[in-house]
Amino acid sequence: MSQSRVREFCSRRDTSNPKVAVPERSGMTVAAERIDRLENLARAAAKAGDEDRAREYVRLARRIAERNRLTLPRTFRRFTCDECDTYLVPGENARVRLQRGHVVITCSCGAHARYPYDT
Ligand SMILES: [Zn+2]
Repeated sequence: MSQSRVREFCSRRDTSNPKVAVPERSGMTVAAERIDRLENLARAAAKAGDEDRAREYVRLARRIAERNRLTLPRTFRRFTCDECDTYLVPGENARVRLQRGHVVITCSCGAHARYPYDT
């Protein structure tokens, strides 16, 4: 890269919104925000008993994460079924049990997920 190109690149970074310094990062932030919103929508739909709509939101969020190479938030990973993409609501469509240092979540489809507990 020539010196002038480097300067141009740097000045472009400096003049942009201070909260969003680098172009690629702002793209990721938008994706992360969409995932966050979809997680909230999925939870609300699941709690309202609309599992199908919740599943659509979960699938959309997974697609966005994949496309942007983002790791899904931990709450998202814990409250969604890997097998059927259902948003899990303990007591409604998911069973939560403790088993020797693990939390075992069973989806209504029969899939289990195990997580070590972290305090
Ligand atoms: Zn499931």
